[in-house]
Order: sequence, then structure tokens, then C-alpha cells
Amino acid sequence: MEITGTGIGQGVAVGRVVRMADRLPEPVDRPSHLDPEREIERAKASLSVVAAELGRRGAQAGGAAKDVLEAQAMMAEDPSVVDEITKRLATGKTAERAVFEAFASYRDLLASMGGYMGERAADLDDISQRVIAHLLKLPAPGVPNPGHPFVLVARDLAPADTATLDLDQVLGLVTVDGGPTSHTAILAREKSIVAVVGAADAATLADGDTIIVDAANDLVVAQPTPEQIAGAEARIAERAALEAAPVTPGALADGTPVPLLANLGSADGAAEAVQLGAEGVGLFRTEFLFLDADTAPSVREQQEHYTRLLAAFAGRKVVVRVLDAGADKPLSFLNDAPEENPALGLRGIRALRHSEVILREQLTALAAADAATDAELWVMAPMVATVDETRYFTTLAKELGIRVAGVMVETPSAALIADRVLAACDFASIGTNDLTQYTMAADRLLGTVANLQSPWHPAVLRLIADVGAAGAELGKPVGICGEAAADPLLAVVLVGLGATSLSMSPSALADVRASLARYSPDDAKALARAALAAEGAAEAKQAAQAAATEITTTRAAAS
Ligand code: PEP
Ligand code: MG
Repeated sequence: MEITGTGIGQGVAVGRVVRMADRLPEPVDRPSHLDPEREIERAKASLSVVAAELGRRGAQAGGAAKDVLEAQAMMAEDPSVVDEITKRLATGKTAERAVFEAFASYRDLLASMGGYMGERAADLDDISQRVIAHLLKLPAPGVPNPGHPFVLVARDLAPADTATLDLDQVLGLVTVDGGPTSHTAILAREKSIVAVVGAADAATLADGDTIIVDAANDLVVAQPTPEQIAGAEARIAERAALEAAPVTPGALADGTPVPLLANLGSADGAAEAVQLGAEGVGLFRTEFLFLDADTAPSVREQQEHYTRLLAAFAGRKVVVRVLDAGADKPLSFLNDAPEENPALGLRGIRALRHSEVILREQLTALAAADAATDAELWVMAPMVATVDETRYFTTLAKELGIRVAGVMVETPSAALIADRVLAACDFASIGTNDLTQYTMAADRLLGTVANLQSPWHPAVLRLIADVGAAGAELGKPVGICGEAAADPLLAVVLVGLGATSLSMSPSALADVRASLARYSPDDAKALARAALAAEGAAEAKQAAQAAATEITTTRAAAS
């Protein structure tokens, strides 16, 4: 049986399914039908099972994870937590409710302390969920650890879950929700996890089933035949060979350079990106560093991280984006007021302008890191919609010592007036994820509208062409840093539309490099024309594919 979804990257994986349990609902506050002594026994038994399990997982994981999990195990059996639970049980509550309330009260206390203690609040939530799950005889929520390599099947993953996946264990990832540009997809791409997202029918997959995750073909194959498994394994071996091929700078067939850059969310990924041939960084998503933080990061903390990043790319270009908080990436210290439509709310540069101190501190930390290293730092603002925002950002950035300041083109507005926006800054970088979301009016997180989220849509391509033309006219660089750049054929189209560099998850570099090398600048323009002239996204992709096949067959016949 085949389940369709949106493949992330070009990889293939074969493995056994392990399902991730959904987050548990809050236990209802109703009187228990057991007496408090019996409820205390139940609660204590579950606390000690959870503590033992956390300790066991810590010992197995080793390293930093061991310390974290052992600390969690101790928290689970902390006498003051047991006291809080006992107090509540005495009033006739159920063990589930008493555990929930006791951990919640400590969580709120820690959260209000902020800083290091504040960050431990999420750990208490995790313990609480585990204990309640044990009481209810349900599987523990969160990423499971079956002790063998597996394919993780989940409704969706929190960024923190995706970021901490053990890649020796997780062979592939299938999610029911999420579109191609959801942050689960982005993090999966960044970590080279073979993933299919928005696979609505994946809810039918059972623990232990062997499946094929075929990201290149947007498919999950359930109950595969031995021939299908052999075919998938051959493709896994082929891709390993492609990845091992020597890395060269990105260029078209005639040698025209198209720098291939990395999208990163932490300096930790820098060494791997360089190894995979990244010629620099085209998008450093700073907000990923602070997703769990309750308070704004200090200048010193930021400066240390940025210095580490820039030092890894000495002599190369590194484009850092200032915090893009809001919508799918809320930061509690920047987005504190609830909004009906956060994607259309105070996010990106709008939120930073509202809390200018945070922007000033970030730019100060970046300028200091730049002064301390030899990389070529460019800094850009997210979610810009107007020339006024462009001027506001570039003026402030230059005042605080940033030498090259640009903006992301992620809103149709910025694309439609790209000539005026580019006149007010040094460069533009097109974020095709949000540009597609806003052009097609389709939430990037919603699987139900995933069919509208294609950057192949001629409406999106036309906006990109306008930005490319404005860049060429003004002699200003126009990069692409959305996930579209990671699609090997679309990458050629984007260059044909005027992109001067492409930035993507490092795992996509090898495929895109190989694809660009097959086409001349005129070929790229021909592919772009074919896609632009189409009626919809699927037709644009087909038209570009047909134009590509014609180019390669004509060339083969002539040689
Ligand atoms: C984009 O919108 O294309 C982009 C690169 O930014 P993000 O995905 O982080 O919103
Ligand atoms: Mg964006």
C-alpha cells in the first residue's frame, strides 16, 4: 500500500515503525473513587517506574543526555513533589490530577525564576506527562526509545523533539501533519533525516510494521514486497556513493558560479556543512537558538555563539538573519500577546521593531562577533513588507556596526516593490517558504492545504522573477534561502529566474550541485520560461521537466 505525503530531500529509508504517542489531555478534576492511601500508592509506584526508566535511558545514552536524564529521574522522586501530590490526594483528587497539579505548580515556580531554572520547567512537564501516562497505562509521550533503529511515525514533532532526535536510531520520519516548509520539515532536512510529512494516512501505520520512506517520490510504502525493499536498499547505496563524490563549488555547465550555501540553525552544524561542500552560510536562523528561552538571550551569550559560527567559515560569506519570532516560531520574550492570526501578526521585523532593545542587542552581538573573526558577515531582516521597514533595519544595522545589511523577501508586498526595497539595502534573500504561504494564502503548517504550498506555482515564480530582475538591474545579489532551493530541478529554474546564490540544508547540496552542472545559463532560462508559462504548480514542474529532457536528449544526439 502506498501513502502519499511530501518528501523532504531525495533520500530513502527502510525500517520498522515506532509510533510517537500524542500529548495527553489535562486530567479531569473529579473526585477519586479510591481512598487517598490507595491513590498515594499508585502515584508513588508510577513515579518510581518513571524515575527508573529515565535513569536507564540516561545510562544508555551517555554524555550530556545522561546528566539531563539523571537529573530528571531525581526530580521525579523529589520528596517535595511527593508531598505536594499527597496534599492534593488528601482532598479527594485522583492520582492523575494530583500529579498534574503538583508538577504544574513546580513548573510555574521554575518558569517564573527564568534563566537556567526557567529552562528546567519543560523537563517537569515531560516527567508529569510520563507519570500520568503510566498511571493511565498509556505509552509515554515524546520520542520513544525502543532500543533499536526505527522509523518514527508521529502526528507532528515539536522543534525541540526534532532537534534532539538520535540519528543513530531514527532511520526515517513520517508525520501526519505538516507541510513541506513546516519547521519539522526544515529541521529534518537540516539533520538529513529521510522524511515524508503531511502523510495523512500514516495514522494507519502500526508499531513494528516494516515500511519504506521514499522522500524523493513523496511516498511511504506500507507492507513492501521483498523486491521493493531490495530496490530501496540499492537506492540507499547509490545515494551514499553520490554523497561520497568529491565536492566542487556550485556552477552551471559553462562554469558560471552559483554559490551553494548552507541553511543552519546552530553553529553545531557548521563542520558538517563545510564537509558537504557549503561555500558559506546563506541563512542562519538565530531564533532556533532560543526557542525554549523565557528571557531574551544576553549579548555575551549571543556573541559567543555567533563567533563560533563565523570562525567555522573564515574567509567565506555568512548570512545571519535576526530573530524571526512569531507564528510557527514563537519566542516567549518577543511574542507575549495572543493573536488570532499570528502569521499575519507581530512577527519577524515587526516584533523586533516593537522590542527594539532586543534587536539592538542582537546586532551589537553580531558586530562584535564579526570584528573577532575573518568571515564575511551579512545580516538580514525577516518578514519585511515595506521600504520603510527596509530602511529602518539597514539604518539601525549600519549604526551598530554591521557592514552588509539586507532583507528577506517573504511577503508578496516586498516582491512586488523589489526595485524600491533593493534600492534601500545591500541584498535580498528570497524566503520561498513564507513567500509561497503568503502568495497562495495557505498555512505552511497545515497538511490539509499542502497541495497549495508548492513554490513551483507560477504565481510564486513570477514574483521571484520580478525580484531577480530588480537585482540584476541594480547590481545587487538576490539569493534564495527557502526550501525551494533544495529541489534539484527547481534550483535550476530559480537560477534561470535570476537567483545569484542558493542556500539549503547541507544534506541537499550534493543533489543540487550535480543538477546545476548539467545546464548552461541559457538552459536555465529556458526551464524558467517553461515553468513561468504554465497554468499551475504541477504543470510548471512538468513543463520544466519536459524542457530539461529535451535539452539533455538534443545534447546527447549532437554528441
Ligand atoms: C522562508 O520563509 O522561506 C525562510 C527561509 O524562512 P523560515 O522558513 O525560517 O520562515
Ligand atoms: Mg520565513
